[in-house]
Amino acid sequence: MARVCVIGAGAAGLCAGRHLLADPSVGLVDILEQTSQLGGTWVYTESTGCNDFGLPIHTSMYKNLRTNLPKEIMGFPDFPVPESEQSYIPANEILAFLQSYADKYDVTSHIKFNHYVQLVIPKAGGPRGELWDVTFKSLVTGEPETREYDFVFVCNGHYNMPSIPSIPGLEEFQGEVIHSHDYRLPEIFADKRVLVVGAGPSGMDIALEITAVTSKVILSHHHKKQFPQTMFPEQKPDVIKIKEKTAFFEDGSEEEVDVILLCTGYQYNFPFLHQSSGIVVDDNCVEPLYKHLVNIHHPTMCFIGIPNYVCAFPMFDLQVRYFVRWISGAFSLPTEAQMQAHWEQEKAERVMRGYTRRQAHFIGPDQEKYFASLSAEAGTKTLPSVLTKIMLKSLCFQNLTNQCTNYRQNIYKIINDDTYEILSNGK
Ligand code: FAD
Repeated sequence: MARVCVIGAGAAGLCAGRHLLADPSVGLVDILEQTSQLGGTWVYTESTGCNDFGLPIHTSMYKNLRTNLPKEIMGFPDFPVPESEQSYIPANEILAFLQSYADKYDVTSHIKFNHYVQLVIPKAGGPRGELWDVTFKSLVTGEPETREYDFVFVCNGHYNMPSIPSIPGLEEFQGEVIHSHDYRLPEIFADKRVLVVGAGPSGMDIALEITAVTSKVILSHHHKKQFPQTMFPEQKPDVIKIKEKTAFFEDGSEEEVDVILLCTGYQYNFPFLHQSSGIVVDDNCVEPLYKHLVNIHHPTMCFIGIPNYVCAFPMFDLQVRYFVRWISGAFSLPTEAQMQAHWEQEKAERVMRGYTRRQAHFIGPDQEKYFASLSAEAGTKTLPSVLTKIMLKSLCFQNLTNQCTNYRQNIYKIINDDTYEILSNGK
């Protein structure tokens, strides 16, 4: 019977636990979670910096966050987000949803809270030819322990280590620099001149939120189109240099600011992986992974949640079911050489399509194809196409710009696997 280690009890780790516990070929499931609570990203705390154990605060959640995807496409296939009046719901409702998911499938009793994974090393042995030594520490007792497992699910989350751009002079800036990872409440910016760098979902959301309390918000971004002036009256191209309190922009203009708020995204990081695991992260490309999921050199390890611009929770479910089917022997993975060739081909195709290395795991419009390829290989049910349709609609530039301030008033209703309607349009 397989012994499985799951690292992290966020949405991905809980989903792994739910399916592993249901599989008769699995005998032991340990879910190791460094914090005292399940839910990962969705746990809100006012604290920033380090926690009581000296570890970096994991969550990047801010107080007023409402989901940026409608809840209708955020549920698990066997456990939808409960009905409510709105589609875009507050973070605490997603946290409660994850708690009830874990309770329903009795996942919670398999979580070792306050257990920090320090080291994961592959070694020879076991029926699949390789095993894993996982060393973790109880943060309460300080005691380290090493356990042997047959399989490892890496579910440690990918929105917690800030990506800091290299802007000349940033380190000597004479105001305050913060990353969105540490952003909690708009009030701390009251009456300050704030430069928001980056206009991804967080950048736009936070810029709008702080506009209500600050004297001036400048949004610096490199989108081809400008956002409507009514949303962001002051927009600038990329910031290229900082001197004292002045930011200089690509178009030759300059602005004096008090705060630089970096909404510049996150980096994948796996500090516990020994280099013999074979996984390398370079410019936010995690490789070599087969289907953004399986460690090609050590296929008894998988990574849940690497692709971005996807319906995250449904995708976690599909990825987990794929890997659990492999554990149970329901299908065979290709050889190492075939998986490597598959990954190389995908990388080459991405280059031809104009994607940068940083976009190695951007899925977006290819989501349905990605889902289908996983389910076809594992012999599982794929996800309904209506998920992709709603995701592409709700994340499209037009939706986020023409209606940014009120797109969250839209209420989606799924009619069937293929069709949806918008009941109330916030336009
Ligand atoms: P996480 O939720 O980050 O969980 C990882 C867990 O692993 C954490 O509990 C962490 O403590 C634990 N862990 C990490 N390292 C270790 C270690 N060494 N030892 C033990 N435990 C460890 N997605 C959506 O679908 N819709 C949204 O509206 C949405 N909004 C978002 C808003 C913000 C501000 C952010 C940051 C993300 C948002 N996301 C959204 C993406 C969201 O992160 C994912 O949907 C999902 O919650 C990620 O789940 P996860 O389990 O992969 O990671």
